Amino acid sequence: MEVIIGEIFLIACLGLILGSFTTAIVYRVPRDISWGMKRSSCPSCNSVLGTADLVPFFSWCLNKGKCRHCKATIPLFYPLVELTCMGLCLVAYSVYDLSIPGIFVYAAMPFLLALFLIDFKHMILPNQLILVLFFLGILRLLYFWGADGFFYETGMDILINYVLASFVFALLSWGIGALTSKLLKKESLGFGDVKFFGLAGLWLGLEALPLFMIYSGGLAIILALVWRYIKDSDVFPFGPALIVVFIIMLFSQGVVVI
Ligand SMILES: [Zn+2]
Repeated sequence: MEVIIGEIFLIACLGLILGSFTTAIVYRVPRDISWGMKRSSCPSCNSVLGTADLVPFFSWCLNKGKCRHCKATIPLFYPLVELTCMGLCLVAYSVYDLSIPGIFVYAAMPFLLALFLIDFKHMILPNQLILVLFFLGILRLLYFWGADGFFYETGMDILINYVLASFVFALLSWGIGALTSKLLKKESLGFGDVKFFGLAGLWLGLEALPLFMIYSGGLAIILALVWRYIKDSDVFPFGPALIVVFIIMLFSQGVVVI
């Protein structure tokens, strides 16, 4: 029991740290700032944040949502993203435990959450974030290949299934996008979305294709209706629907993997 409480505490801390990293990506990538190792600074007074300002969530609470130097308000967005990432990591822990397949899922969370938020705000799925997720997905496949596990008898079957799935997902979504664009006479699916479909294939495999298409299509229709109602615009980001379905299916796969 104590071991489990210790593990949950560890994952909660990890989730908050990854959440803090997520906010840095969401701020930096659309502004073309490197999201590498550079220390964060306050966007309004530019003072470099010290260690006491960088404890996710708790720093925000202690400073009552204000910068310690210039007293500028730090949006509630920051602690909310950190808590969301913590929640996602805890759900991932409930299915993946502290297993090696789980580590790839934890590592993917900040990039998925950042893609979700950036697409909502800027309607783009930045290439560099998609590339990181492709890279993590390939590493995960190599692990499964070596471990000869997962759904298949041999590691080679895993490689073929998932790499093939990546191409099939991308081609099919590109085809559907091109067809609906022609029918509706406007662009319906961006190229970033097609790349994300390829990514989903690489992580989820061929078996997941029908459900992924049905769920993401259904959720996208709901989102489009809500978007039209709130923003009064016909153009809406498709990425968030894809990402939500992807995360849910990734979690449900964990039940089988472990
Ligand atoms: Zn400041």
